[in-house]
Amino acid sequence: MANSWRRERWDSLRLLTPNWLSRLPGVRYDGPDPDGYMTVGEVTEFIERFAKVSRAPVRTGVNVTSVRRAGDGFHVTTSDGEIACRAVVIASGACNVPSVPPLRDGVPASVEQLTPFDYRDPAMLPDGGVLVVGASATGVQLAAEIRRSGRPVTLSVGEHVRLPRLYRDRDVLWWMDASGVWDQRHDEVEDLTRARRLPSPQLAGTPERATLDLNALTALGVELVGRWAAVRDGRALLSGGLRNVFSLADLKMNRLLDTFDEWALTSGRDGEFDAPERFAPTLAPQASRLQLDLGSGEIRAVVWATGFRPGYGWLDVPVVDAKGQLRHEGGVVDSPGLYALGLPVLRRRKSTFICGIEDDAREVIEHLAGYLASEP
Ligand SMILES: Cc1cc2nc3c(=O)[nH]c(=O)nc-3n(C[C@H](O)[C@H](O)[C@H](O)COP(=O)(O)OP(=O)(O)OC[C@H]3O[C@@H](n4cnc5c(N)ncnc54)[C@H](O)[C@@H]3O)c2cc1C
Repeated sequence: MANSWRRERWDSLRLLTPNWLSRLPGVRYDGPDPDGYMTVGEVTEFIERFAKVSRAPVRTGVNVTSVRRAGDGFHVTTSDGEIACRAVVIASGACNVPSVPPLRDGVPASVEQLTPFDYRDPAMLPDGGVLVVGASATGVQLAAEIRRSGRPVTLSVGEHVRLPRLYRDRDVLWWMDASGVWDQRHDEVEDLTRARRLPSPQLAGTPERATLDLNALTALGVELVGRWAAVRDGRALLSGGLRNVFSLADLKMNRLLDTFDEWALTSGRDGEFDAPERFAPTLAPQASRLQLDLGSGEIRAVVWATGFRPGYGWLDVPVVDAKGQLRHEGGVVDSPGLYALGLPVLRRRKSTFICGIEDDAREVIEHLAGYLASEP
């Protein structure tokens, strides 16, 4: 139970969603700190509490090794026996495997390489410089923590989503929730493929409710460099044009804040909040380095914060595309009786968040119930 939270997260991680947003059917956060952010242990307890309340017949510690079509239904092989069923809901998560680009093969053996699944805390890293690759939620959090441990940190930044932690004195995710941005449905999103690939926002859940954008990292002493484009003779070749990448992220953030302000006005709630504010543009370094010599000893470890992908090695039904993504329409998989939950923008923008599962599950299960009620 809560396996991914128990085994695949680093020690200091807290949810980036505030406690009051942690809601599952019949279970809501009811502790003393609604605006705080749960630690990994607290998330595990929260999910265990949900399992008790829902009284679902959960069998833990069982690995599904194969799901294949059999007659009108499916034959499921598990580490604890076989199951025959008419329908299967794939809720195996969107983040089973860290996505690491083939660049990893060109990194000299003298440099240690870690993914967020391997990383627990800075003490496990060798002394010396660390290159963190990727500046989304995982990358900015690890870059900050490793820098605070005293190590020189270089952060390779590609496309990213910048957000302030607080906006007009409310958590930015309060705005996402209240304004309906998070409820935008998959069939209303202009470019669904792109929306599903959007990186996670630069957010961290800290007791101080501090913003963790690139300006905050620069202030901590993290060196920003461009996207890692190639590796040649042990040298990382980095893209230039950081200024453009930063302007685009700033522009998108400001557009989102405009949407919030507009919603506040049209909903008649504008007077409840502090005045609209805009944040300082992301500060680009005077001249970002375009190469890093990985063999020089300056960089002792590379942390790949380059995202995660789902793993379907056990799924023996041809519904996974060439990019490893499940073919589905709002969770109705491209094979009768097969369903999915918990994937990016499955039915709504909030689909991969804990608070997003309830609405999606209701609709997907309604479809499933109709399917089961139909003649086999
Ligand atoms: C680093 C990180 C930080 C996150 N922070 C937040 C946050 O702040 N707020 C938030 O709302 N969400 C956050 N999320 C997303 C979060 O993971 C989801 O909200 C939530 O955990 C999704 O639940 P899930 O059950 O869909 O998937 P998961 O939690 O991934 O659970 C899937 C389960 O399926 C199991 N499984 C996979 N394959 C098999 C198999 N073949 N047989 C048996 N079992 C299998 C896995 O072991 C796992 O236990 C974060 C995710 C990551 C990776």
